[in-house]
Amino acid sequence: MTDLIELTDCGLYCAPGDFYIDPWRPVPRALITHGHADHARAGHAHYWAARVGLPILYKRLGQRIEVTGVDYGEPLWFGDVRVSFHPAGHVLGSAQIRVEHAGEVWVASGDYKRDADPTCAPFEVVPCDTFITEATFGLPVYRWPDTRDVAADIRAWWQANAAAGRASVLFCYSLGKAQRLLAELAALADVPETAIAYLHGALVPLTRIYREAGIPMLATEPVSAQDKRHDFAGDLIMAPPSAAGSRWMRRFPRHETGFASGWMRIRGNRRRRGYDRGFVLSDHVDWPGLISTIEQTGARRVLATHGRTDVLVAYLRQRGLDASPLATEYADSPDDEARADTAEDASADQSTD
Ligand SMILES: [Zn+2]
Ligand SMILES: [Zn+2]
Repeated sequence: MTDLIELTDCGLYCAPGDFYIDPWRPVPRALITHGHADHARAGHAHYWAARVGLPILYKRLGQRIEVTGVDYGEPLWFGDVRVSFHPAGHVLGSAQIRVEHAGEVWVASGDYKRDADPTCAPFEVVPCDTFITEATFGLPVYRWPDTRDVAADIRAWWQANAAAGRASVLFCYSLGKAQRLLAELAALADVPETAIAYLHGALVPLTRIYREAGIPMLATEPVSAQDKRHDFAGDLIMAPPSAAGSRWMRRFPRHETGFASGWMRIRGNRRRRGYDRGFVLSDHVDWPGLISTIEQTGARRVLATHGRTDVLVAYLRQRGLDASPLATEYADSPDDEARADTAEDASADQSTD
């Protein structure tokens, strides 16, 4: 029996429904899990995506794409294949895609996390026979601290820098992480309502989309809109990782840098990349979340994409599951993920800041 979803040169393909999930080459029908660059690529004839994430797709792929917005849980039919989108808890509008055919159920997770995130709908466990899971952080060392504690650490760092007359430049991915940080900081009791975060141009349009979606976040202003004499002493500035070491940083004569990412769980990463501070905050599932999620889906078969699939696959096989890696072209290392983000941010840099 052939697989309901198979790996082809263009991406994950469902033959009975004749559609692709997050394809990396142009196809007629593309079901998109979320707006990150490695999942939502340009050039497809028609897109399907969760309705709340549509503004992100338009922003990234242009207003001219042909796209059908889908509500979470709403059934779609491709021939006799039933498809539905379910929250993945990764970024605004992120979805797992459930595919059912002839009594068999597959779920493609896209990227997901189990931690609370005020900026998107929480991950929904979707029972299935085969679960295609991401494994970006598929090593036991990756365990996330409580997000509230991380936000409080960032606030304390910002305050200490302010007391010393320095700016706090916090690097974070432009889609999802930046807005989650703004929401978490706004929820802290000791952050005054008048507090402002200054944004690099690459973060401005995406943050506006989140604000228009009604997500409460810290007030923001573009760095570029500030008077030339404003030296940002004591201010919080947020920027994509690509801005680190760039000419743009000259706006902040005295500053410390921080990076908010799951990769900061490994101390060497912070030192190697030259950040003053690392804050462990990821929009991907950590190791315990990965294992418990796989268990909760009840899947007997697991296909792992992204990153460290080898350790996860070995672990699952030991536990009696039918597990294999799936060689997709999604970002699969810290540097790849940064690079995917950087390519877009670099162009945003030139146009807006
Ligand atoms: Zn993603
Ligand atoms: Zn991804």
